[in-house]
Amino acid sequence: MIADAHAHYNDAAFDGVREDIIVNAVRQCGIIVNAGVDEESSRGCALLAERYGGLYAAVGIHPQHRGDVSALAGLCAERKTVAVGETGLDYRDADGSERQRQRELFIAQIQISKSYNLPLVIHCVNAWGDMTDILRRYRPFGIMHGFTGSAEAAAELVRMGMYISFGGRLTYDNAKKAHKALLAVPDDRLLLETDAPFGPAAGRMGERSGWEDLGITAAFAARMRRMTEEDLVKTVNDNTARIYEI
Ligand SMILES: [Zn+2]
Repeated sequence: MIADAHAHYNDAAFDGVREDIIVNAVRQCGIIVNAGVDEESSRGCALLAERYGGLYAAVGIHPQHRGDVSALAGLCAERKTVAVGETGLDYRDADGSERQRQRELFIAQIQISKSYNLPLVIHCVNAWGDMTDILRRYRPFGIMHGFTGSAEAAAELVRMGMYISFGGRLTYDNAKKAHKALLAVPDDRLLLETDAPFGPAAGRMGERSGWEDLGITAAFAARMRRMTEEDLVKTVNDNTARIYEI
């Protein structure tokens, strides 16, 4: 079993097949942290987590979505909510006022994560400067998900206390930067994820991603880190349980 540090089984891509897929995924992964992207999906994640033993919820508002952060507070108190997220910054196609809106939304969620003592699940695209400014200033703890940045960026996040999570994109031949970053992350900060249904592993392009991709990503990461797959999986499972306090 390989723990999945970040997935979106509430996504519409799973409509009609969600239950079967979750039952199987939980069996294969042991632990899955299922993240909301807005108020409604966060509520859905919290409800779904109540129904499956290995399924846990992260509740948050993704930078490309809108919503009222105060609605997250009640969800943070739920028994199986283990994180605040998916949150962060995504500056693709974002003008000045949109960037400002995202920063405010992100900082509000950092504050919620602190008041509930929960880790943050962070998304960062094209916003490294503002991201590091905010992390240095507010000092949250948590994970940087779907990491494809540089080794230097990974090392800096690790110094700030963050865990680094890699998804299926790590396995792409052309993901050279992420390959180097993988080697810059110490054993005790490494996580793997599916980000299901997004970002399938190499060889499964165009597919809806799921637990199958996690096996491919784990084998790839073990090879690159010169570890046995068994050791790598144990490391990742231990880290997932530690950061989410599962
Ligand atoms: Zn995600």
